[in-house]
Amino acid sequence: MLHPAGGGLRSHDAATGLLAPVHLEPSLTSNVGQNYPYTSETEADRATRIGTLVAERAGLSDTLAAETTPLDANERWWVWKCPTAGCPGLLHVAGYAADKHALFVVCDGTCGKTFLR
Ligand SMILES: [Zn+2]
Repeated sequence: MLHPAGGGLRSHDAATGLLAPVHLEPSLTSNVGQNYPYTSETEADRATRIGTLVAERAGLSDTLAAETTPLDANERWWVWKCPTAGCPGLLHVAGYAADKHALFVVCDGTCGKTFLR
């Protein structure tokens, strides 16, 4: 086996260039699902969006009243992409799931579903 002249141990230099694992875990983490947030929105935007959805969708306010508890004060909230196939919607936080440690989110797209995050 031939060694290049002057090769020395330079290949070890690569070991110093290891990248730390990228940390993507959101601060508003939950134990439901493994989807990462798509973006975030201000509390004002969130409240407006949810208010519009509640006004547009019959029964949504009842669902939220039955299944969620009010949110804490927060300046910003996560927004997720809707996982429904073909739905271009985003998921907005509507409240805390009443019996679970999760956020109750509502899709603003065509599927109109609710999810836990
Ligand atoms: Zn959707």
